[in-house]
Amino acid sequence: MSSNDLSSSIQYIKGVGPQKARLLDRLGIKTVRDALFYLPYRYEDRSSIKKIAHIRHEEVNTVTGKILKTDVITPNPRRPRLKIFELTISDGSGLLKAKWFNQTYLKKLFKPEQEIILYGTIRYNYWGTGFEIINPEYEILDDNAESNPSALGIHTGRIVPIYRSTEGLSQKQIRNIMYSVINSSVSAISDPIPTEITRTYNLPNLQESLSNVHFPSLSSSIDELNKGTSLFHQRLSFDELLTLQLGLAAIKKGEVSEKGISFSPDGRLINKLLKKLPFKLTSAQERVFKDILKDMQSPTPMNRLIQGDVGSGKTIVALMAMLAAQECGYQSALMAPTEILAEQHYINIHRLVEDLGLNIHIITGSKKNKDIEVITSGRADIVIGTHALIQETISFKKLGLIVIDEQHRFGVMQRATLRRKGKGVIPDTLIMTATPIPRTLALTLYGDLDYSVIDELPPNRSPIITKLFSEKNKNQIYSLIEEETKKGRQVYVVYPIIEESEKTDLKSAITGAEALQKIFPHLKVSLIHGKMKPFEREDVMQKFKNGNIHILVSTTVIEVGVDVPNATLMVIIHAERFGLAQLHQLRGRVGRGSSQSYCILLAYGESADARKRLEVMVKTTDGFKIAEEDLNIRGPGEFFGTRQSGMPDLKVANLLRDAKILEIARKEAFSLIERDPTLKNYPQLRRSIEDFWGKRLEMFKTA
Ligand code: ADP
Ligand code: MG
Repeated sequence: MSSNDLSSSIQYIKGVGPQKARLLDRLGIKTVRDALFYLPYRYEDRSSIKKIAHIRHEEVNTVTGKILKTDVITPNPRRPRLKIFELTISDGSGLLKAKWFNQTYLKKLFKPEQEIILYGTIRYNYWGTGFEIINPEYEILDDNAESNPSALGIHTGRIVPIYRSTEGLSQKQIRNIMYSVINSSVSAISDPIPTEITRTYNLPNLQESLSNVHFPSLSSSIDELNKGTSLFHQRLSFDELLTLQLGLAAIKKGEVSEKGISFSPDGRLINKLLKKLPFKLTSAQERVFKDILKDMQSPTPMNRLIQGDVGSGKTIVALMAMLAAQECGYQSALMAPTEILAEQHYINIHRLVEDLGLNIHIITGSKKNKDIEVITSGRADIVIGTHALIQETISFKKLGLIVIDEQHRFGVMQRATLRRKGKGVIPDTLIMTATPIPRTLALTLYGDLDYSVIDELPPNRSPIITKLFSEKNKNQIYSLIEEETKKGRQVYVVYPIIEESEKTDLKSAITGAEALQKIFPHLKVSLIHGKMKPFEREDVMQKFKNGNIHILVSTTVIEVGVDVPNATLMVIIHAERFGLAQLHQLRGRVGRGSSQSYCILLAYGESADARKRLEVMVKTTDGFKIAEEDLNIRGPGEFFGTRQSGMPDLKVANLLRDAKILEIARKEAFSLIERDPTLKNYPQLRRSIEDFWGKRLEMFKTA
């Protein structure tokens, strides 16, 4: 069938039918359009056809020839059920035998005189029969003559696409389906990208690009194809990134036109705070605060991302912004990703501002009903909490500023919900993250935000010394713990799991704490983890802060933000189980005072890959380098947890590989939205944006 309706069911494509349609559905392919955009994930070069005279033992080759004879043989009389179908072909330069084990049905398929292509591993059979090719992929050329006049094979004799498939659907079947889809339907697709853009960048047309990405032409480079950097891949990546950036541009455009608050703080609270601090702000902190102040003074709602490595002093800057709001009679909300962190912010901020006459309140899941009235009535000046802040039915009397700490755990959608808490007025939003990400990526993930970096650490910090140990260095670790605690310092020991379980043989925090207490009977060892009640955790954290606990055994609950400057040693057990960005965060818990701090990564197992990864931690404390390495190893999806961030998934484009394309797509997207905010002149583009972004872009739909 030839389908002009790309949204029609894949079932009606030649060779599909209801049964295969069900299998395709598992791959997310429901319509013809889905199939067109279901791209190969790799390619095999089966294009260069070897003369039989030139083939070699153990090479993987494509050969072609005419069938001389076919046979079914039983090679071993004592195993009568083992049957081999074999055929002999000749290409004029020599003879080759092809063998398939237990596939006698093939006898019906192949007939003498047919021209065929075979692809597989060559074996030299020393028992006299010469060269053989075992269980090869095959294709009968005459069969395709009609649908494939070029006489290129679909499965052999070309660069062959390999698709992710599912049980019950062979590569050959899915490839055949894709071949019919392209043949019947690619011509029905029309190009949503405005021609002035395709022309400016000399982009190949969309139909040609899809055809080539599925079934590359003879001149394609297998290398580029496999890397996803062929000209045609680039065109498809561009489309995807343009759609992504158009969405971001639309969000930003929408926000800019919203009416926010023009704050005019007089500085009286901020100056009091600055006088109290035992240190001077770094110039980076000052510069970033200036950015914030400018945003707060403007009537457009602030949407600013503050990026700063662990320990760069983001909290003080955020607090200054909250005081600025307070000076103008507005409430602020600070949202943290974990209860521990919320509690800690509460304690710190409370300590810093209690004598400024401010009312600080904390709301977490466990305290939800308490202070709600205080917030609605407007008596709470600063409200600190976890996402309970957005989940509960909390409404503020006069919310002016929202600070979100450690943004990468919150999504675009959660951010939007919180902004609506302002009852009519749009509060300013400040987002702080310690995940150092390359600029182009920041532009994508936070494409709708303005962006400042605290690129300087407070002075007098000596870099943390990091060591990679294995189990046999255990005693060295114990003596380090002894040494540091003797100096009056404190120690973190982090485990990947709370309790031992049958499923893994990982060491656990509970067992670890018991063992450490036995080894150090004269020291106080305590345990903290996510299954404890919040007030128990708070109690432990407070004791650790006060120095009453020497060794704090924990899980990653202490990963972000916890600040105890007297802790100088961080031991991470099963370091190989953690991502680099996570290790960097954990390590950031030490080195917060002026004394030398240490981080010991204890890795189990012999994996060279894991060691190489962990070596990065030993070599550098630069969060940017670590993040980049992590990104390379894990890929952007997992790195950012895009699924929870509310970003659409990218299918073709890769944010790292396609950074240049991204830059161009961004520029074009923002200028298009500037010229035509609702894309009324580009209905097709608008539709593809709606498809891509789905519900996420409600505001764009109603625009
Ligand atoms: P992060 O950026 O990781 O959230 P924090 O705000 O927790 O960092 O600050 C880390 C530590 O550095 C805190 O103990 C804080 O009081 C201290 N600090 C912040 N700014 C400065 C500064 N300019 N000089 C010295 N110490 C600072
Ligand atoms: Mg912090």
